[in-house]
Amino acid sequence: MILQDKVSSIKGVGDKRAKLLKNLKIDTIDDLLHLFPRKYEDRREVITIMEAQPGKDVLVHGRVISKRMGGNPYNKKTPLKVTVQDESANLEVMFFNGKYLSNYFSIGCEYTFYGKINISSGKRQMAHPEFHKMGEAEDVRGIFPVYPLTDGLTQAAIRKLQKTVLPMAKESCEWLSEDIVKRYNLCSPSYAIEKLHFPDDERQIREARYRMVFEELLVLQTGLFYIRQNRSAEDSGIKIDLDISVKEFMDRMPFSLTSGQEQVWKDVQKDLALGRAMNRLVQGDVGSGKTVVAELAMYKTAKAGFQSAMMAPTELLAKQHYASLKRDFEPLGFTVDLLCSSLKAKEKREVLSRIESGDTDIVVGTHAIIQPDVVFKSLGLVITDEQHRFGVDQRILLAQKGANPNVLVMTATPIPRTLAVILYGDLDISVIDTMPPGRVPIKTLLRNDNAREGIYNFVQTKVNEGRQCYVVAPLIEESESIKCKSAEELYEEIKVKYPRLRVGLVHGSMKQEDKDYVMESFASGDIDVLVSTVVIEVGIDVGNATVMVIENCERFGLAQLHQLRGRVGRSHYQSYCILVCGNESKIANQRNQIMCSTENGFVIAEEDMKLRGPGEIFGTRQHGLPELNISDLVKHVDVLEDVKNVASNIIEKDNRLKNADNQVLRQKVKKMFGENIQLNL
Ligand code: ADP
Ligand code: MG
Repeated sequence: MILQDKVSSIKGVGDKRAKLLKNLKIDTIDDLLHLFPRKYEDRREVITIMEAQPGKDVLVHGRVISKRMGGNPYNKKTPLKVTVQDESANLEVMFFNGKYLSNYFSIGCEYTFYGKINISSGKRQMAHPEFHKMGEAEDVRGIFPVYPLTDGLTQAAIRKLQKTVLPMAKESCEWLSEDIVKRYNLCSPSYAIEKLHFPDDERQIREARYRMVFEELLVLQTGLFYIRQNRSAEDSGIKIDLDISVKEFMDRMPFSLTSGQEQVWKDVQKDLALGRAMNRLVQGDVGSGKTVVAELAMYKTAKAGFQSAMMAPTELLAKQHYASLKRDFEPLGFTVDLLCSSLKAKEKREVLSRIESGDTDIVVGTHAIIQPDVVFKSLGLVITDEQHRFGVDQRILLAQKGANPNVLVMTATPIPRTLAVILYGDLDISVIDTMPPGRVPIKTLLRNDNAREGIYNFVQTKVNEGRQCYVVAPLIEESESIKCKSAEELYEEIKVKYPRLRVGLVHGSMKQEDKDYVMESFASGDIDVLVSTVVIEVGIDVGNATVMVIENCERFGLAQLHQLRGRVGRSHYQSYCILVCGNESKIANQRNQIMCSTENGFVIAEEDMKLRGPGEIFGTRQHGLPELNISDLVKHVDVLEDVKNVASNIIEKDNRLKNADNQVLRQKVKKMFGENIQLNL
């Protein structure tokens, strides 16, 4: 057998098993060896029944002193109750539907049990433990790996499979250079694999994990650097003359650029003039004014005779951009079109043919833009807004619609620097670090459930003054299992209690036209209070809305709260964000404190990362990065630093990964990034 053999070549793995393993993305023996435990169970010590802490998994020994079927002995579903004893106490072991096990346990014989002990009316009980007859199994004790499972596969089955293939781990050869291995004190891959599955102690787990995390992050970072390097190495990008003036465009704007915008605009112009494709990320907090920078780039591109495409994550946002682009560009003689899936067939055909003929200068839309039926005459610039909703591969799909067009990515999700480097490893980064002048800081207030009356009276007062208000709830409709306010419930409540308010409701499961209608009514001031779910989180811009009430704020993450709050504070009026907290957990309190203390997205992002890890906020999937097997971008951020240096060294010396030394790395990059992003490896 070799590592690349299919799992079906393992004894005991038939078609059915192979299919189950496939669910875990396991094809080959090598894949199986790389299915690492998600945690371990410490079963090194046998403890006495008396010592066992309730609720914690423990390993105990006991002699069977009695057994019986509880309840009706003729009913197969009645539990089997086996009472065992060690020198310290008695323990009742229960198996529901356990009749079939009855013969396995013999009075007077000794067994080991691994499970949780609970004490119920003075009696120690253990339900459904793992068990072995003493002397029957050798490996009852030790550190046990716990694997991610799929239906139909048990821990025991995977452990057994891993034991079977473990000798193959030796075939996993060292592929990193001696220099790197020495410098970072890495153990060998075969040792790492072996010890990750069957460690003797914690130290081995640490050594093994470090090696594998290092290796995985190195492959990721190298892939990202490869993309960036080889893209900027191509000289065939669209060149846009530095001399094209944007004065005509800026003259019509009611403001001049802030210093932050000015700086970023300089970066962008330099990229455009360079003649190789721009790949730049513009990071700027909510409201920092990213759109105008994008517009300037589109203006210059249009002047140079090329088309621009702007992709937004939601239809709502696409339409909003469409409206402002039309306002800003049509008077200057440029054509703007909207492309989204809700267009009627005829309209869509017309738009498509205008894009193809080149009549359209600027097209804005949703994912519809990257569909195969969209053909550009001369695409020169691609802009994606609110990048965190798009993946690297989608961005690349859009870019492929032109001959190496310039790419500008805009995001309002402030990401700590260390993470940005990898999440956007294939992009150059500019940051708008200023806010447009005249902003009144938002007042953020924390209230609990009891204050609701006062809060909505306040809303009424603000509406009387002519302002508008958002109310955000975590759920669409009432739920029995989750105790919190739903959007529908709030909508009804507010309508009844405050009959003078014009209330609207918008949520994700409404039909597109209905959503649009409500949003448009809110934007035009025909609705005073908009009750919604997080659908309004991204990009909506209604300056007259000055109050944001977030119900059950404990159910939102910090980044989300920050995005939501960014919907207000968009004009010279004083704005308010009222966090209504339904459950004062420790983490909710910490989040609320942070929200009340700062409006700076970068600070919030750092804190968010500390509080609860990356999963929900900077989920790698959201960023379209390949899925990681063992690494965690936040937990292993220090490894990331080392890896960055190693990867950039490798790419500097061998930018196309052609050297003989780099062939394994090349294969691994290819495997991690898959076919869809076309590395041309
Ligand atoms: P975001 O970065 O969140 O996308 P926008 O581009 O939507 O922000 O800008 C937010 C608001 O600020 C818009 O109403 C925009 O017209 C305004 N704005 C942008 N730049 C400036 C500026 N330099 N001076 C004054 N207002 C500005
Ligand atoms: Mg925006």
